[in-house]
Amino acid sequence: MLTDLDLAFDRQHLWHPYTSMLNPAPVFPVSHAQGVKLYLSDGRELIDGMASWWAAIHGYNHPKLNQALVEQSQKMSHVMFGGLTHEPAIRLGQHLVALSPAGLDKVFLCDSGSVAVEVAMKMAIQYWQARGLPGKQRLLALRQGYHGDTTGAMSVCDPVTGMHELFSGVLMQQLFAPAPATGFNRPLQPGEMEPLRALLANHQHELAALILEPIVQGAGGMRFYPPAYLAEARRLCDEFDVLLIADEIATGFGRTGKLFACEHAAISPDILCVGKALTGGYMTLAATLTTTHIAETISAGGAGCFMHGPTFMANPLACAVATASIELLLSQPWQQQVAQLEQQLSQGLAPARQLNGVAEVRCLGAIGVIELAQPVDNRRLQPMLVEAGIWLRPFGKLVYMMPPFCMTAAEVQQLTHTTCTVLQDYLAAG
Ligand SMILES: *Cc1c(COP(=O)(O)O)cnc(C)c1O
Repeated sequence: MLTDLDLAFDRQHLWHPYTSMLNPAPVFPVSHAQGVKLYLSDGRELIDGMASWWAAIHGYNHPKLNQALVEQSQKMSHVMFGGLTHEPAIRLGQHLVALSPAGLDKVFLCDSGSVAVEVAMKMAIQYWQARGLPGKQRLLALRQGYHGDTTGAMSVCDPVTGMHELFSGVLMQQLFAPAPATGFNRPLQPGEMEPLRALLANHQHELAALILEPIVQGAGGMRFYPPAYLAEARRLCDEFDVLLIADEIATGFGRTGKLFACEHAAISPDILCVGKALTGGYMTLAATLTTTHIAETISAGGAGCFMHGPTFMANPLACAVATASIELLLSQPWQQQVAQLEQQLSQGLAPARQLNGVAEVRCLGAIGVIELAQPVDNRRLQPMLVEAGIWLRPFGKLVYMMPPFCMTAAEVQQLTHTTCTVLQDYLAAG
């Protein structure tokens, strides 16, 4: 049992994501989690609308995933991947190659999403170097994008909303195209692709790759954009000889209604990053996939190999639970579950449109977003949500949810209805 002293220790000694050590926001101790519920130490239970930041697609404490982890731990929890290999890595690799968009045949297993982005950037740069074009080493990214917190990844996040503005002096100077206008179900507007085309045309000699989050820009604004934009971006990258990196760390494994969001536009990127839901939220693991052509070009270059290799690469526990998570997903009618979630979220969040202070409500796949007119005061809103029995983590102007796929209609109803009610009280009192 946690005592008050333990919680005081937490406040004094433990960093939480993006928190102050002078005035830390309250944290809620969780004792355990089961299905779509988080159980707090004080006995309260919360319906989880966050899936632990997109990851826990099957909910918590799933017997199949637990079993995979226990069985693997009894064989080996880890061995180095340099010079050794093992069944968990091979099985996971087989699934990733089979399921990912066509042509992505070479798999690099990484420790986290941010590292997968670093690896993708290094692959792109090494590729052009091996082709004798070392000047092609900058990245082009979209505004409102988010690609992680490490130094290379920070450089391709939105320079203003990407949470890393104060580091701008030390980051690689990348190029940015305007964020695509929102709206999943809309045609391209005339001239919409011109800014991206102009950047590619004017900078192709120095550009290694365009990096983007396909269809859904996540942490940089929870914005949805049309498949036609993605298809055009793919075409323009080909036209100007710039690689396309698709960051599917948030969208991968069914979240948008397709296994990978690239499928909405029927495109394959040159490099693909996956993470978050890869292990069903159990462990940190990510992967960067690329084509045979890129992998072989890199390997034929001066270095003779790809220059990266983390200590915990292909951790067997993480690979085993990832394999179990993918097999569990594929054994279920997940397309139907996500389609139903989209419908239930759209219906359940619609009443928020009537609230004074709500700018927009939008849903895609198992993602529901309420955008407010003003930034959220989370220190006031979060305790209200917890008091009402739900777990959300609003940020900026966004109150958003991406529940585990196994959430029942009644639970979605409770989650959305409670969110709308609490938000009404919050906005009325503000
Ligand atoms: C979360 C996220 C990352 C970073 O992943 P971490 O595991 O937090 O390092 C990168 N890109 C996108 C699109 C993400 O949503």
